[in-house]
Amino acid sequence: MAILHVVKYGDPILRQKLKPVDFDSLKPRLPQLLQDMEETCLAVRGVGLAANQIGLDLRMALILIPESDKKNAPLKRVVIINPEIVDKRGEIVEEEGCLSMPGLWVEVPRATDVTIRFLDETGQERKVRARGLLAKAFQHEMDHLDGHLFIDHADPALKPAIKKELKKLRTGWD
Ligand SMILES: [Zn+2]
Repeated sequence: MAILHVVKYGDPILRQKLKPVDFDSLKPRLPQLLQDMEETCLAVRGVGLAANQIGLDLRMALILIPESDKKNAPLKRVVIINPEIVDKRGEIVEEEGCLSMPGLWVEVPRATDVTIRFLDETGQERKVRARGLLAKAFQHEMDHLDGHLFIDHADPALKPAIKKELKKLRTGWD
């Protein structure tokens, strides 16, 4: 078990389009990798963690999301491997943050409803339609797998302020 270092903004791997996972060759190390990713995500109180955020060139991400709307609901782990968006609907603009840019919160538009196809942690193909936080997490994590960051979706008028804020925040990151 290990808490991994989360790669921060400015590291080129966050701008890389990640390589599709060959499930069978990853399988032997997957349980340990997912356990480490889950612990890391919990330690930094994140909703999701993409492989490049821990320095790995793999098209996969882990999401930790409350099982229900109830207060203190247990977290459910959703692992998405080689995900693809099948359908996208609606639009909502909400504040978002990222473990690779701690301290930065910016409003970005997202679809309210997304359907994605992916391999789950057992290698089974799944198709899931999501709304709310899970829909947002799917889109945020899938951006990472393509080398995109949530700030790319921000209003262009906000970009100079975001840049300035990032410059200030970076001095406090490890
Ligand atoms: Zn992120």
